[in-house]
Amino acid sequence: MDLLDTLTAKGLRGEVPTREEALAVLATTDDELLDVVAAAGKVRRRWFGRRVKLNYLVNLKSGLCPEDCSYCSQRLGSKAEILKYTWLKPDQAAEAARAGVAGGAKRVCLVASGRGPTDRDIDRVTDTMAAIKDADPEVEICVCLGLLSDNQAERLKAAGADAYNHNLNTSEGTYGDIATTHTYADRVDTVQKAHGAGLSACSGLIAGMGESDEDLVDVVFALRELGSDSVPVNFLIPFEGTPLAKEWNLTPQRCLRILAMVRFVNPDTEVRIAGGREVHLRSMQPLGLHIANSIFLGDYLTSEGQAGQTDLDMIKDAGFEVEGAGEATLPRHRADVAEAAQAGGGCGTAASACGSGGGCGPCGGHAHAPSSSAAQASSDSSAAQASPAAPAAESSGDELRSDLVKVRRRGAGTELAPNA
Ligand code: SF4
Repeated sequence: MDLLDTLTAKGLRGEVPTREEALAVLATTDDELLDVVAAAGKVRRRWFGRRVKLNYLVNLKSGLCPEDCSYCSQRLGSKAEILKYTWLKPDQAAEAARAGVAGGAKRVCLVASGRGPTDRDIDRVTDTMAAIKDADPEVEICVCLGLLSDNQAERLKAAGADAYNHNLNTSEGTYGDIATTHTYADRVDTVQKAHGAGLSACSGLIAGMGESDEDLVDVVFALRELGSDSVPVNFLIPFEGTPLAKEWNLTPQRCLRILAMVRFVNPDTEVRIAGGREVHLRSMQPLGLHIANSIFLGDYLTSEGQAGQTDLDMIKDAGFEVEGAGEATLPRHRADVAEAAQAGGGCGTAASACGSGGGCGPCGGHAHAPSSSAAQASSDSSAAQASPAAPAAESSGDELRSDLVKVRRRGAGTELAPNA
């Protein structure tokens, strides 16, 4: 197949495909799917071998958010029966982090709900990072606190943070359909602030919110231009009690095509299968490992994942290996660019156009100001508007599977042991 030969050759050289080629990946048929996975797998192995990076989420503060991200169970007005609690104490967070590291996680992701941190919140997270690094100095820490104000990224960097997560989530053109309390431009600004402070940028997307193929390609190219070092690909978890509860638009095949497209556009970037892996890929999860080089271990922020040991068994059975603490995640040429950017205080990827949004992690996030064409629709109406945008061939692939969404009841914020 000419398309896949072209994409493979470009990916092996670290080149980005054209927008048309990226769209063509999303338009492939089920008969072509294994060829698509194999082609993306060659690119994945070129830059990341058979390593799988494990990341572990610690939800420092859950629920009760004033923002209105329509996909998020922690949003303003959410009726989802999730855990709700305020800031964990540093020792509580460190205990949860230890479980993830003991389970094989190389990176701990500290996430808090909310529009953005106060300076007092930065102090709390500083103390939490110290407690975690006291126990394990090698662990990578990524922080996800929402929109950053001036100098907060510098404070996090000085306190030992390695990375900052803020997702773009969707295209600039549709951002106003999924959140109205912040904008796409707000998100871009935060990622730029993190990058400018020398933090590794983690920024990704959510698929399955009713977006078009063009929207997906737009956001993935924006992430490439932004210089994200890691791209979490979330598949919408349609929580009961949120405006997108009925948005079951994804099939396992669609998820694999999306992952492959993200890999081809970001050949040498960490691509992470994030929230929704178990819910939407289901028995096809091992095929996702041939494309992505990173996953979350165990549970998510507000929903439960499969058992941590099941993740480890899946990795081994599929012929992959867990990336060790001493191994570099990114290829050397990407690490060099990142180091140069940090030294220069700017963002640095092959694409110098830094600056798309940010947002909070696997749950969704803060957005920016939508483009002028994007209506500031309410979250509730956005759910209704989203469906018609979904490609007809894919939009009805899954029946309602709310039985697959299990609210997290263990780990951080509970008396029960974390799942790792
Ligand atoms: S994604 Fe983040 S900012 Fe948006 S509602 Fe959820 S916790 Fe709040």
